[in-house]
Amino acid sequence: PENLRDNVSTFRYVRVNLIKTTVDAVVKAFEEERYKLARFEDIGRDGLHKAMPPKARKFMRDPDLNDVLVFPPGTDLHDHPLYVNGSVILQDKASCMPAHVAQPVEGSQALDACAAPGNKTSHMASLMHNRGRVFAFDMDRNRLDTLVKLTGNAGCKIITPECMSFLDVDPWDAQYAGVEYALLDPSCSGSGIVSRLDALVDSYIDVVRKDGKANKDNEGARLGSLADFQVSIVLHAMKFPGVKRVSYSTCSVHAEENEQVVARVLAEQDEFGLAPADHVIPTWPRRGLSGAGLTDAQAECVVRTMPEDGTNGFFVAGFVRLRAPEPRKE
Ligand code: SAM
Repeated sequence: PENLRDNVSTFRYVRVNLIKTTVDAVVKAFEEERYKLARFEDIGRDGLHKAMPPKARKFMRDPDLNDVLVFPPGTDLHDHPLYVNGSVILQDKASCMPAHVAQPVEGSQALDACAAPGNKTSHMASLMHNRGRVFAFDMDRNRLDTLVKLTGNAGCKIITPECMSFLDVDPWDAQYAGVEYALLDPSCSGSGIVSRLDALVDSYIDVVRKDGKANKDNEGARLGSLADFQVSIVLHAMKFPGVKRVSYSTCSVHAEENEQVVARVLAEQDEFGLAPADHVIPTWPRRGLSGAGLTDAQAECVVRTMPEDGTNGFFVAGFVRLRAPEPRKE
């Protein structure tokens, strides 16, 4: 586990807010500030760390997500005018994947079940060019207040925040009848977050070196109850009669919260199946773990990211509706 630390070096990712500007305009602005635009075609995935050394004045269009730019590790853009005015959002690449998997189209209606602080909510609004509607649920009032500020700064005009448990939202309420896209990013262990990776590695080393059985048992119970909650969130979203596409994500590296949640959801209902691999960030090479509840073909349909990819550890799956909803039972 000590070697894990050597591989941790996250690139800085800039998501272009399509509500306020365009990717071309942002590229031009950085070029005018003497950032040199590198071409992924010249670098390749294996050459990224070499071509983009820490703090080099370089950047690149992301090869997998068309509204994301990549900067070298250590680039600090927190004071940059484009960030301050909401034209760009500083967001890890992995956490930009779920909205691309949900694929809400301009003018449609979407829901974000566990939305705060709202980066993915604002990303959906950006992909929808601020037309349509996004219902954003979160049960934590303070975090939802942050969502309102964050999405306001991004210029989002189509967000309806609602402070409540998503599990208490009535899927058959007429106001949600037009919702077609659901983004589900529920609470998870957070074990993939790089800043927490040191803590994770330390506790792992601790467990290995000492008699860590008690710790492991606690961790197992915690993961089990998180996974139960995650399954219930996905199944609840699938009850909304108009929903036809669902994105499920975590910032966890544990199969129990990822592939195994997907396998449980597939086993529990028959209206939704896995979105095919070519709809789920198809150019991204690291796919799901096989043998962790999914067949090899199913594992190809879901996406993982790891710190050695220059991102946080993350997981994304897409589900698509296969069958019309069952008529509501009174
Ligand atoms: N999607 C967010 C983003 O990209 O900014 C991050 C979401 S965070 C991983 C999980 C959120 O789920 C927390 O804000 C938490 O308050 C919320 N949450 C937990 N249980 C919930 C529930 N039953 N209903 C709605 N939100 C819930």
